[in-house]
Amino acid sequence: MNSDRCIYLKVLGGGGEIGANCYEISYAHEHILLDCGVHPKKEGFESLPSFDLMESFPDAVLVTHGHVDHCGALPYLTKLFPHFRVHATLPTLRVMERMLHNSVVVMNTIRKERNIFDYPLYQHEDVENLMDVTRAHLYNNLFDVSGKNIFKALFNPAGHVLGSGSILLELDNYKILYTGDISASNQELLGPYKPMDWLDEVDVMIIESTQGAVDENKVNSYDEESLHLAKSINQILEQEGTVLIPTFALGRTQEMANILARLQDEGLLIKVPIYISGLGRAIYDIYEQFREYLDENSKLRPLNHFRKLGNIWQPEVMKQLLSVPGIIIATSGMMIENTPSALIAQEMVQTRHHGIFFVGYVDPDTLGYKLLHSKPGDELQFQLDAQPVKIKLRNIKRFHFSGHAYRNDLLKMIEKLSPKNVILVHGDPPALEWMKENTHLKTNCIIPKNGSKLTFEI
Ligand SMILES: [Zn+2]
Ligand SMILES: [Zn+2]
Repeated sequence: MNSDRCIYLKVLGGGGEIGANCYEISYAHEHILLDCGVHPKKEGFESLPSFDLMESFPDAVLVTHGHVDHCGALPYLTKLFPHFRVHATLPTLRVMERMLHNSVVVMNTIRKERNIFDYPLYQHEDVENLMDVTRAHLYNNLFDVSGKNIFKALFNPAGHVLGSGSILLELDNYKILYTGDISASNQELLGPYKPMDWLDEVDVMIIESTQGAVDENKVNSYDEESLHLAKSINQILEQEGTVLIPTFALGRTQEMANILARLQDEGLLIKVPIYISGLGRAIYDIYEQFREYLDENSKLRPLNHFRKLGNIWQPEVMKQLLSVPGIIIATSGMMIENTPSALIAQEMVQTRHHGIFFVGYVDPDTLGYKLLHSKPGDELQFQLDAQPVKIKLRNIKRFHFSGHAYRNDLLKMIEKLSPKNVILVHGDPPALEWMKENTHLKTNCIIPKNGSKLTFEI
């Protein structure tokens, strides 16, 4: 094999798991990273992609969207190598900046509370330095990735969250498509991904597999699930309780707020105040600034339609908040200890009349999962510096909303582009296995491990 005619793909994170997504593409002396995230379940240096395995310092990083499992390690990389370019859509850059500054605050808090001395992995000024090397792109505009006129790339709308884009990377006629996180159906605010009708074939397709283990025929549609949620919320409100909906700040918060407001407008949900917590509001503000990136038929309410939570760390504010019926949308989605959702839950679980409804993925290692599977009488710790509390609350449920494509939609995407190589990433092992077993094309279908290096002859 002539190495001058080979493209290499090295998996630095996101192989065999939903981890620190980061894929290095190398050709001749050009090195590009696709995404650069932190692992959602690991801490400190462990949460970073395997930068030590990189073939070389990067010329450029392309970022699909602002969730930290796709961009959370970038400021750390800027400290190591200050001279690369970062490409993304403009809304992704705005969201990313906000999310990364928030990560600095979170890492500082964890350092203090739990003595994790790797933290913070970077400072606010590293985030600012990173933003100085970013370049914003419109969708479907081809650009030169590193200024060497070797790789060209474009972002294509991927649904999922505001600004998210799949990446098409071209080297002469050789095409690599990285879907990033992608959604194939309508959400409340975002439309589905836009198929690239002019694209018949790709050589390599790196595709996410989050929902590979979920049979879509056995789960409710987004609309059906919204109605079930409304019914359960109404039951709590009728008994003078308050409902907590733990959510991710980016995407699910803005979607849920507008689903609930619409259900209230339609008379299907009792009209009570809806609250949104801090980071979710900051990202909501960016959704308002980039309305034109949302589905044209969607109705984004102004942020002031939703109330501020106030300083819930003050007992009087918390008491007041829970004394009248309301709906609270608060981070974090999996209820990490000491976050607003954990603090509010700590109060709610000591009563019987409130409700806690999860609306997204809850990892088995998290407090959210333990709460979801708790029985009255169990004890759980919601704040690291406080005593565990006894659970009395029974109204704790999970509803299924997802911003990721169903598995059969993923298979359709693969079939349409008949890639010679399919690289399955961003999924738990059963999800990845289902995808591999059901990809029936005469294609090279691989589930790479972290650290693996794949070679493609061009
Ligand atoms: Zn995502
Ligand atoms: Zn992701």
